[in-house]
Amino acid sequence: MPVTNHRITFARSPRGLPTPADFGADETPIPVPGPGQFLSRTVYLSLDPYYRNVMKNSPIYAERLAPGDVMIGETVAQVIESHHPGFAVGDFVAVRNGWQQFALSTGEGVRRLDAAVAPLSTALGVLGMPGLTGWAGMVHLAEPLPGQTAVVSACTGPVGSTAGQVARQMGARVVGIAGSAEKCDYAVRDLGFAACVNYKDGDLAANLKDACPRGIDVYFDNVGGETLAAVFRNLALGARVVLCGMIEAYSLDQPPPGPFLGPVVGARASLKGLVVYDHLHHFAEMNRVVSGWIREGSFRYREDVTEGLASAPEAFCRLMRGGNFGKALVKVAPETR
Ligand code: NAP
Repeated sequence: MPVTNHRITFARSPRGLPTPADFGADETPIPVPGPGQFLSRTVYLSLDPYYRNVMKNSPIYAERLAPGDVMIGETVAQVIESHHPGFAVGDFVAVRNGWQQFALSTGEGVRRLDAAVAPLSTALGVLGMPGLTGWAGMVHLAEPLPGQTAVVSACTGPVGSTAGQVARQMGARVVGIAGSAEKCDYAVRDLGFAACVNYKDGDLAANLKDACPRGIDVYFDNVGGETLAAVFRNLALGARVVLCGMIEAYSLDQPPPGPFLGPVVGARASLKGLVVYDHLHHFAEMNRVVSGWIREGSFRYREDVTEGLASAPEAFCRLMRGGNFGKALVKVAPETR
């Protein structure tokens, strides 16, 4: 058991793409739980693109970071000392410990985890906030019909791979968009998509036209920018576009000019904004259905795991460059002590 708490801190708002110099590190005493609190040790740290927006103190997030603060983030952790009636030593939980080895919690917003249902790490990916995002966007906003064409960008990440596989389970013909031939092979071979277009290889709008000859009925957008513009040129009549993420712009100091919206009018398409926190009441339903698919083998996921808390800044920078292949996680400590 370490005697100090290793923490990765926020140093400054990045200029452009984040670099490890935007983070700091320190060691503090391991905190002691008071009445109604528990202490947990972090096992997995989730790396999520929205941290980049919190690092610029974007007003759309409640969280604020000042230099020296521990970086925010969701984790899977194990309770090691408890003065909380609802949590016992040994329990695994999904809790917002941030980028540190140990943290206190009052239990608010904490989810208890059961390793018998699914691997613990999935609570940060396909069975966590990203999975709920993909599920809610497809099931409750886009609603693809059997036989319709559903396109998903960043399609091998936890949000995109869930959105795409949910659409496939709903009977849609799913076409992915991803940033390498390796990711596209995985999308077709493992995720069961009908096709996948590598947006770094050739004319995206033309390649989407080939992959979606009857047009795009549903688009689940994780990227924004030029990818969104290329999809707009291929919309089918009555298309639904779910605007989920704009990662292409997160590291830009000025938002780029928006895509030309003329094709949205021509296709009588509707655009819907998605915020996962509006859909927390669907969490249990998503977990029950998707964990069942995982156990029966009809739903796949990938994880991109980096070892050790000290590697978190570089791993996060890699995620923001699109270098991750699967849910980006940091393994902070072994699951069993
Ligand atoms: P992820 O897919 O694991 O990682 C991000 C991926 O974005 C990269 O691997 C890369 O994949 C792709 N990408 C495309 N253009 C990029 C660019 N210009 N720079 C960097 N990466 C680029 O991430 P995730 O956790 O599943 O999240 C996906 C999206 O959903 C993000 O935009 C995130 O902010 C959003 N999100 C929204 C909500 C909500 O409530 N609306 C909730 C959760 C997440 P390729 O190489 O395949 O392009």
